[in-house]
Amino acid sequence: MLNTLLRRRKVTIHCEKCQQPLRLSDGEFICDRCSAHYPAQPVCPDCHQPLTVLKACGAVDYFCQHGHGLISRRRVQFQPSTP
Ligand SMILES: [Zn+2]
Ligand SMILES: [Zn+2]
Repeated sequence: MLNTLLRRRKVTIHCEKCQQPLRLSDGEFICDRCSAHYPAQPVCPDCHQPLTVLKACGAVDYFCQHGHGLISRRRVQFQPSTP
């Protein structure tokens, strides 16, 4: 079931250490095999630029500063943030 979910995403991220597909959980990628955590960067599905995260009253909104405005949580894409 997890594999089906991962396949539906456009990008599958793999663990740098053991090459397992990573699971996205709460803003970070987690490797189920070696428990490595990788920070995830929310990006705009339209322009693939990093999104500004707005937190208010326990809700999280994602805002694109490149003309796409508020991005609904369902459309936000995540990529590993590169240091
Ligand atoms: Zn791993
Ligand atoms: Zn955008």
